[in-house]
Amino acid sequence: MRKLGVAAAAIVLGISPIAAAHDGAAIARERRIAFPKTMDGRSVLAVDLHTHSVFSDGSVWPDIRVEEAKRDGLFAMAVSEHLEYQPHAADIPHPDRNRSYQLASEAAVVKPDSQGVAGRPLIVINGTEITKVVMPAGHINAVFITDANAIRTGDVTTQLKTANAQGAFTFWNHPYWHAQTPTGVAAMTPVHAQLIKDKLLHGIEVANGADISDEAFRMALDNNLTIIGTSDVHGLIDWEYDLAGGGHRTATLILTGAETSEGVKTALKAGATVAIYNDNLAGKKENVEAVVRGSLKIDVDAPLPRTSVVPVSVINESPVDYILENVGHEGFYDEGHVFTVKAGSTFTLLVKNVPDPSKLNLTFKVLNSYIAPREHLQLTLSDSTPG
Ligand SMILES: [Zn+2]
Ligand SMILES: [Zn+2]
Repeated sequence: MRKLGVAAAAIVLGISPIAAAHDGAAIARERRIAFPKTMDGRSVLAVDLHTHSVFSDGSVWPDIRVEEAKRDGLFAMAVSEHLEYQPHAADIPHPDRNRSYQLASEAAVVKPDSQGVAGRPLIVINGTEITKVVMPAGHINAVFITDANAIRTGDVTTQLKTANAQGAFTFWNHPYWHAQTPTGVAAMTPVHAQLIKDKLLHGIEVANGADISDEAFRMALDNNLTIIGTSDVHGLIDWEYDLAGGGHRTATLILTGAETSEGVKTALKAGATVAIYNDNLAGKKENVEAVVRGSLKIDVDAPLPRTSVVPVSVINESPVDYILENVGHEGFYDEGHVFTVKAGSTFTLLVKNVPDPSKLNLTFKVLNSYIAPREHLQLTLSDSTPG
């Protein structure tokens, strides 16, 4: 007794006719990282703060990065070329290290007659990746900078002071990267601890591309660092993620009352983020709970005739599948205790032996959400539209 609300998915996620022409309707709809607002009215905006183009070691021109970001429904994207690593410099000399950002910004301008993906505005954020060969300091992104050239000189502390003076938000990239951390286990270093203490380093990548780190997550929680997920894309998003299979790029969800560039920056500095990785959500409990409560609802129906068996619709308005474990007292008549509610769809289950449907609530662990390493969000849901 289950049904997939295909029509509901189309309404929730929207279909862009232009994107559909390129991607096929299903991919165009499903690849967008579009979450509904939180219960307290904040927007949940997807951003990717770590991308590369041919202006460092990426394989594409910056306009391709912009096109991908629009197709993925991102609100904002940062251009973050390596400052100290420039393998294409002989072919593409660019004394101005803001050039990639300038080209991406021009590509993001919405023409008056644009439709579909092309008609959607995208905020492009100027950024850079401070790139040290060994750990520490490894790689650190500075985004919302005003001039990448000014950050080229000095040691990492000086560079971060310059970036902060420009108003930057900064975060530690892939602290577990095996090329610099052979165990693959992220660990705090005295250099990073000092940068955090001096408020020069504000966040940390818990997920980067195909990788995720429990230890980075733990460091974020213990040091009150903003939790970040990024693609760190060098090739093509379409080749690195299973978009046709419902996948999404690794990214960060921003919880903000203001759908502006400044709103994103304020939320980043306040730590109001959730990392999205392989359709898992990872973040501080209050942020993960706000995102899930905004996108997962239940609707309690009247009991089946002459029974106390009650149909309950579980409604997923998010772009990720929710894997739910029933941890409440209620037993299900037609379902095991673990089940999946597909992205943008409704799942109907029967709850048995319900004496009073108006008092029914269900308690779930959301198995694809993390509020700490190996710890899932648990929440109790009651009828979203009582009466
Ligand atoms: Zn890096
Ligand atoms: Zn990078």
